[in-house]
Amino acid sequence: MDANDYYRAPSGIGPLAAEWQDKPHRLLYDLAREVEQLQRLLWLRHDPEHFSALYGDDGEMQCGVCGLDFRRMDASLLEKVWQMKALIEAAEKSQEKP
Ligand SMILES: [Zn+2]
Repeated sequence: MDANDYYRAPSGIGPLAAEWQDKPHRLLYDLAREVEQLQRLLWLRHDPEHFSALYGDDGEMQCGVCGLDFRRMDASLLEKVWQMKALIEAAEKSQEKP
C-alpha cells in the first residue's frame, strides 16, 4: 500500500461507498484516516501554550517548542518523551523545596 493510497480511496460517505464497502482493504484506508485524524488532534491539543509554534504546512504536524513531529513519531515514542518530561519536572520540583 502506497503511503498516500488512502487519500484516493472513496470515503465511507462518498458516492462509491457502497462499491467499496465489502473490500477488505477498505478497513485499512479507514484506519489510516482515523490515525491521521487522531495525530492531528494530538498535535493541535498537546499544549495550549505551544499553539503559536505549531508548524502544519504540507501536512506536517510539528511543534517548534517541544521539537516533536506528530506525523513521523509513533504514539509509543511520544508517550516516552512525555513520561521523561514529567520525571524531569518532578525532579526539578523536588529540588526546589528546602
Ligand atoms: Zn509542543
